[in-house]
Amino acid sequence: KRLILIGPPGSGKGTQSPIIKDEYCLCHLATGDMLRAAVAAKTPLGLKAKEGMDKGELVSDDLVVGIIDEAIKKPSCQKGFILDGFPRTVVQAQKLDEMLAKQGTKIDKVLNFAIDDAILEERITGRWIHPASGRTYHSKFAPPKVPGVDDVTGESLIQRKDDTAEVLKSRLESFHRQTEPVIDYYSKKSVVAQLHADKPPKEVTSEVQKSLS
Ligand code: ADP
Ligand code: ADP
Ligand code: ADP
Repeated sequence: KRLILIGPPGSGKGTQSPIIKDEYCLCHLATGDMLRAAVAAKTPLGLKAKEGMDKGELVSDDLVVGIIDEAIKKPSCQKGFILDGFPRTVVQAQKLDEMLAKQGTKIDKVLNFAIDDAILEERITGRWIHPASGRTYHSKFAPPKVPGVDDVTGESLIQRKDDTAEVLKSRLESFHRQTEPVIDYYSKKSVVAQLHADKPPKEVTSEVQKSLS
């Protein structure tokens, strides 16, 4: 399966991804994670992306399209993939369709993580991440056994620098202005499934499973 997860920051894309990935044996491509790795490694791409990311603005289409073009050609992604956080603009969606057309494939489903903005600040400011695995916790909704410590490895958890109420505002603004049109773009192709992303994680998982069966 070739899937796209679309939703605002904090809507639960990263929480649901590992479950979908394991169930369908897909590769998980999260442009945010890839960009953060490039920033941490101070690669030329990371240096270009950092300023926009810190402010909660989107980075340029060319940057992320290049990353995805390379990633979806990898052998491990030939059976299918989950795109998490890409495409975020209509231009990115059009470029993606062109890449897939060259492979003779297309997107099977777009999962729309629908949720009100009002809930997201609490989710984002309480988010804790284990960077090495991508495991995500929440100080109130999904706390680790020991605060600040990953349950599996015992390593430290981090909070993302852009997970503040202030940067969230501009991330949400980018979402509504630039990413919501992507949902309309795929609606016209009749591949969008609506999820109630404000429900508890397990209920969201079963909605995902229903929409993919
Ligand atoms: P979240 O999952 O919380 O919405 P991400 O981790 O996906 O956030 O993205 C973090 C930042 O990386 C974004 O605010 C943006 O600056 C950049 N980014 C990630 N994916 C894209 C993309 N497809 N196009 C442009 N910028 C992106
Ligand atoms: P995204 O990848 O879409 O930015 P995450 O999956 O990282 O979002 O979730 C954001 C925060 O909200 C995390 O701290 C996560 O533990 C928590 N969370 C995820 N799904 C739910 C849910 N259905 N109900 C309550 N909290 C959730
Ligand atoms: P900075 O070092 O610029 O303050 P952050 O505080 O945002 O960066 O992140 C610290 C480290 O955690 C970085 O190495 C970054 O790549 C990594 N990181 C942040 N968020 C994630 C994530 N969701 N998944 C994987 N790694 C992450």
